Amino acid sequence: MTPPARYRGRFAPSPTGPLHFGSLVAAVASFADARRQSGQWLVRLEDVDETRCKPAADREILETLRAFGMICDEPPVSQSRRKALYDDALQRLIERDAAYRCSCSRKRVAATGRHGSEGPVYPGTCRRIAPPADQPAAWRVKVDGPEIRFTDRILGDIAQDLHADVGDFIVRRIDGFTAYQLAVVVDDQAQRISDVVRGADLLWSTPRQIRLQQLLGFAVPRYGHIPLVFGPDGRKLSKRDSAHPVDPASPMPALRAAWRHLGQSSPPRNIEHPDTFWAWAIPRWDIDRVPRNRKYRNERADAL
Ligand code: GLU
Repeated sequence: MTPPARYRGRFAPSPTGPLHFGSLVAAVASFADARRQSGQWLVRLEDVDETRCKPAADREILETLRAFGMICDEPPVSQSRRKALYDDALQRLIERDAAYRCSCSRKRVAATGRHGSEGPVYPGTCRRIAPPADQPAAWRVKVDGPEIRFTDRILGDIAQDLHADVGDFIVRRIDGFTAYQLAVVVDDQAQRISDVVRGADLLWSTPRQIRLQQLLGFAVPRYGHIPLVFGPDGRKLSKRDSAHPVDPASPMPALRAAWRHLGQSSPPRNIEHPDTFWAWAIPRWDIDRVPRNRKYRNERADAL
């Protein structure tokens, strides 16, 4: 199915800590792209894994976005309040015989499976022999079917053979939490998202998300994956890098740095306020200038 005609973009932070520079870059890119196309921009707090979330981090992130001049067009939604939607989607997958229970531990999968681009490839053990009904189990979705292909707005043509590279993947964890891949697909559909602009660390999640969209009869949004920010040690910045939260009291330096990281033309020096910055920046946003970060391209799929 084609994405909705009206542009609706989103920024989907996990409230595991204050907004850091890497997330700011994703927020800036998704906001600029939505506004440049006179579209709507939504914020979704991805707190589906409540064990990883920090109290008050959601409020802090929203306040920081506001200080940076990024205001969402609809009230932010939180995944922790949307469990019924995820249950429905899982039920539909089960009814279509597209999902099955799995009691394999991570360790067991690592020991028996082959390695793909994102870790061990699930060998299908519980697909062949179902675990006893009274045993706690996760749910996996079947990845049968042709290779998944899509054209990324920044990185170009992407293809992945999910069967060879990932295997049947988890949509409901053994602890009962919905897995990111299923929650994000349900939410993007429910919020009628037409365009996803996010970090390149999620590039190889996209084929799994497209597989779920196909199974559930959902629209497939357009995707664009932006270059990640790496710390001085060469690792991707993450929320755990508490040394790099952005400062809502002084937004301009980080806003300028994020714009530069995205390959955009330099703003005049005299811009001192985010609102002035955005008035200048939105008409100048050009996604074709965003550098292509191939670090997260899967080499095997690249060779196809
Ligand atoms: N919640 C994810 C993160 O903070 C982003 C998910 C997405 O944009 O699809 O990395």
